[in-house]
This record gives sequence, structure tokens and C-alpha cells, in this order.
Amino acid sequence: MALPLEETGCVVIGAGVIGLAVARHLARAGQAVVVLEAEAHIGEHLSSRNSEVIHGGLYYPPGSLKAETCLRGKALLYEYCAARGIAHRRCGKWVVAGPGQAEALDDLHANARAAGAEGLSLIGSERLRQEAPWLRAEQALESATSGIVDSHGLMASLATEAQTHGAVIALRHRVEHIDCRPGCFTLSVAAPDQRFRLRAERLINAAGLSAVPLTALMDALPENQRPRQRFAKGHYFKLRGRPPAERLIYPLPDADGLGVHLTLDLGGGARFGPDVEWVERPDYRVDENRQESFEQAVRRYWPALRPGALQPDYAGVRPKLWLNGAPYRDFLIQDQGEHGIEGLVNLLGIESPGLTAALALAERLT
Ligand SMILES: Cc1cc2nc3c(=O)[nH]c(=O)nc-3n(C[C@H](O)[C@H](O)[C@H](O)COP(=O)(O)OP(=O)(O)OC[C@H]3O[C@@H](n4cnc5c(N)ncnc54)[C@H](O)[C@@H]3O)c2cc1C
Repeated sequence: MALPLEETGCVVIGAGVIGLAVARHLARAGQAVVVLEAEAHIGEHLSSRNSEVIHGGLYYPPGSLKAETCLRGKALLYEYCAARGIAHRRCGKWVVAGPGQAEALDDLHANARAAGAEGLSLIGSERLRQEAPWLRAEQALESATSGIVDSHGLMASLATEAQTHGAVIALRHRVEHIDCRPGCFTLSVAAPDQRFRLRAERLINAAGLSAVPLTALMDALPENQRPRQRFAKGHYFKLRGRPPAERLIYPLPDADGLGVHLTLDLGGGARFGPDVEWVERPDYRVDENRQESFEQAVRRYWPALRPGALQPDYAGVRPKLWLNGAPYRDFLIQDQGEHGIEGLVNLLGIESPGLTAALALAERLT
């Protein structure tokens, strides 16, 4: 028996920060939007399992989508948070260089300037000794515009605003199948009390870790536009007691991540993370045996960290893309210009700085 069929203008798959920002943007522009979210609450995955840092745009190649949307997104996010009373703090950040790392810090500084990052300055050893005697660092790159944000408050606000403009956010609605034709997408949806089909003219795939698997259901998508995905899990450990700094402290980045850094939370606490563990499938367990490797990573820049001062907190999983056999390190927005399918947008590999970039990514969809 055929499933009941509903119709709408635009479907967004996923109510993480990206899907919600997109839904708000399109609903404000007068489009009929339905957001389908598999979980019982918004933002249960990537968007609530991150460092909650508003990034300054230091790391991404100039001209890349990450660089551009991070910088634009940061400006929009500060404005949005100030206007809506969402908790945030422009606390600033230091990227610290230890012995033998001066050249790598200079390279990062040069990249950040070329990418258009603002509020940058180099801090020498004298000032570091005076202001942060607890730090083991010879130099630091300051990013005065970096900050932190309450990601849950942000998502709640985006959801409310999208709904105020007529968007429907359907929780516990999992997309199981997609019939993908230009300008006509028929989704099979499993809801708690029924299964049905939903037809839309536009489809925005903002499904986070599931965005790549969902492209496998899109028959019309050209083979060379089907990326593979690997999962890079990152754990966090919480600091017992008061943090040693009032700004974010990062080591220099490594190949797969930004390094185990000190992040502040808006409640006055601090946590360290995320590390990198390649996993076959996403899971959010935090193995307390990682404590020792965390302590070692933190002691590279905070030698006086007390043994046992860290406790397991939470974990998140980064979607890492491979396209045509090679790592693809930028965000990947596939729209009609790329794949020729009218109405379809895939938002893929939206790892860090996706929280910062969300409003700018949404703005790119018209
Ligand atoms: C460890 C870590 C640290 C990070 N730190 C930062 C940071 O400090 N600053 C920053 O800017 N960014 C950071 N990020 C990146 C940021 O968290 C993400 O870019 C952003 O949250 C991505 O949001 P999303 O909406 O794409 O994904 P998600 O929040 O995962 O949302 C996708 C949604 O789709 C739903 N879904 C999936 N499949 C289906 C389906 N079939 N049907 C219906 N719904 C479905 C899921 O349930 C989920 O709710 C970090 C990421 C990680 C992993």
C-alpha cells in the first residue's frame, strides 16, 4: 500500500545549528520550510559536542569556504548574539609556541593575515612571563576577536525564529529514503506514529555526520560528487577547579585537529580537548584511560597541571571528507551549479568552524 503523501516547498534534513540557520534564513525569505530531525531534540550531535568557540579564522587557507564563512559567520554571530541576548563572550585567544615552534607560529600568523583575520598580534616572552607565568611558551599569537558562545541558546533562538516565520520543525522524523529528481524530491519519513512520504521542490541536506551517507540515496548525483567520509572522534576532559586563564589557550594545530586546547565555558569552568581518534562509526563514550595522554598534552603548555585535575567530560565526532581518493579539507557545498540537479543542496564535511560559520553558510542559500 502506498504511503500517504504530503507536499511542501523546501525540506531541510537535520536540526543541528546548520539546518536551523538555513531554515531561519529561508523562512525569513518567505519560503515554506519543513525541517526533519531524527532525534527527539534539536542539536543532539555535532552542534552540542564541540568547543563552543567562535573562531577568528586563523587556520583556513585564504579564499577557502572555511576561511570566508568563518570570518563572515563570526561577525554575524556576534551581532546575532548581542541582538537576541544569547550568552557569549569575546574572551580572546592565544595560540602558544614552545621551544622550536617560532617558525610554525609565524606561518600561522601569515596565513591568518592572508585569510583576512583581524585583531591579531604577536606576544613576546617578556609579556607572557608577566601575564601568564604558568604558561610554558616562548611566543604567542593573539586573536582578540575569538570568543565563546552558548550553542544551545543559539540553536533555541534559531529554531524559534524559523518557526515564527512559518517553518515547521518535526522532531523524531527520520528520513529513510530519497527519490531524487530535479525540482522534485520525495522523501520516505519514519515518524513515531506513522510513515509517510514528503514531496518538496527543494532539498537541503544538513544532516551532519549522516549527510554523506544520505548522498548515497541520491541516484541522480554524479559518481564523482559522492565523497567518502571518515570519523575523527575528539574527547574532552573537564578541569576540576578554577581555570588558570581568562582567555582560550591553544597549542599549534596538528595535521588532523587544532590540538588539545583550553576552552572556557560561560559558567566559569574550563575543559581541555579535543584529541583525535579515528573511529569506524560515531560513538560518544569517553574512555577515562585517556586521562594520562590528556595530562601530557596539556603539560606541554601548562607544566604545573596537577595529577588527577582532569575528569572525563564528553566527546564529539568530526566528519572528514575524501573526494576522488584524496582528503578534502574544506566545507563542501554541492548545489545545482555543481551537480546540475535543480533544488538540491548538500552541505558536507561541516566540521569546525561550522558553529561559527553557520549564519554565513545559511546566507549562501537563496
Ligand atoms: C569535537 C568538535 C569540536 C568542534 N569545535 C567547534 C568550535 O569550537 N567552533 C566551531 O565553530 N565549530 C566547532 N565544531 C564544528 C561544529 O560543531 C559543526 O560544524 C556544526 O555543529 C555542524 O552542525 P550540523 O548542523 O551540520 O550537524 P549536527 O549538529 O550533527 O546536525 C545534523 C542533524 O541531522 C540529523 N539527522 C541525521 N540524519 C538524519 C535523517 N536521516 N533524518 C533526519 N535527521 C537526520 C541529526 O540527528 C542531527 O541533529 C566542532 C566539531 C567537533 C566534532
